[in-house]
Amino acid sequence: MAKLSKRQLRDLIAASISGSGWGLLYLSGANEHPFRLLVYREGESYPVKMYVWNISHGGGARRPADEYRIQITGVDQFEPEAGSDRARTLILGYWDDHEVFAGFDVRKHVGHLGFSPSMQIRQHYLVDALANGFAFCPKDNGEVAVAFRPDLMGDYIRDWTALHDLGATPDILPVVTGAVQTTVAGGVPDLAGMPAQRQTAVRMVTEKVRDAGFRKRVIAAYEHRCAFCGVQMDLIDAAHIVPVGHPQSTDETTNGVSLCALHHRAFDKSLVTFDHRWRIRVSNREVNRLRQAGHDGGLPEFRTGLRDVIVLPADPMLRPRADYLNLANTHRGW
Ligand SMILES: [Zn+2]
Repeated sequence: MAKLSKRQLRDLIAASISGSGWGLLYLSGANEHPFRLLVYREGESYPVKMYVWNISHGGGARRPADEYRIQITGVDQFEPEAGSDRARTLILGYWDDHEVFAGFDVRKHVGHLGFSPSMQIRQHYLVDALANGFAFCPKDNGEVAVAFRPDLMGDYIRDWTALHDLGATPDILPVVTGAVQTTVAGGVPDLAGMPAQRQTAVRMVTEKVRDAGFRKRVIAAYEHRCAFCGVQMDLIDAAHIVPVGHPQSTDETTNGVSLCALHHRAFDKSLVTFDHRWRIRVSNREVNRLRQAGHDGGLPEFRTGLRDVIVLPADPMLRPRADYLNLANTHRGW
């Protein structure tokens, strides 16, 4: 595959950040490397300095056949961002063949880099990350390289130290990997008898993988459309019908509906819902409350923007399940 230019890599990283549900600001010019970004989501933000190179096959007869690497060019040494503990300095590789990233731990690469420096990762970790979201590759220098899918970019940026620190106790890696595989297969990892610290590590990773899996499945089922208005434009969230935290909430696709930002908020505020015949309904009670408060500006346009019935997944097995819908509508006062 052709190597991507720094500009292409930056655009791809930006798309990955947006696709994982985060916003970003560019703090440096398009042709400056490392990139400087501000990555944010409601209530939290991180200044990020990001080094990135293409991942390519390691080559060389004396190297393992499945070794891939980034070749560090144009940088004598990494300069971690000083300042607040929110600042992040990241070293990334991107493998264009499979559209997957690898993160390397800058704390293990301080000081002058020497001649022709490179960082390695085994191919099967890159491939595993495609299926499972994350994969953790232990290395001889005590570092853990973290391979991850683009839709987990926001999570990687947020928790990169904790993810790389999983390597501090190497025997935890098979446990986390097993728990991730169980989660991806739709199961619940058994944490019974596990030390508390290990449970925390397993939960940190499996929750990210589970959330990303739900988002990916639901949005794909609705072909990236808002079920209420049909808009695409990459403004789509995966909303839970029975909200997270309710004892009967699940991450099944049938407990999800894909909604644009406006209709997600309106659904969560019980202004709008749909019934078992897929008809979209606007709450009279909420409309009256808004009228009384004088906050009903835009209501006619809001109504016009709604379809009569929701957009449905083509696969009937992925459509909202009646019991989830009934439960949610009852609890939301419909
Ligand atoms: Zn919408």
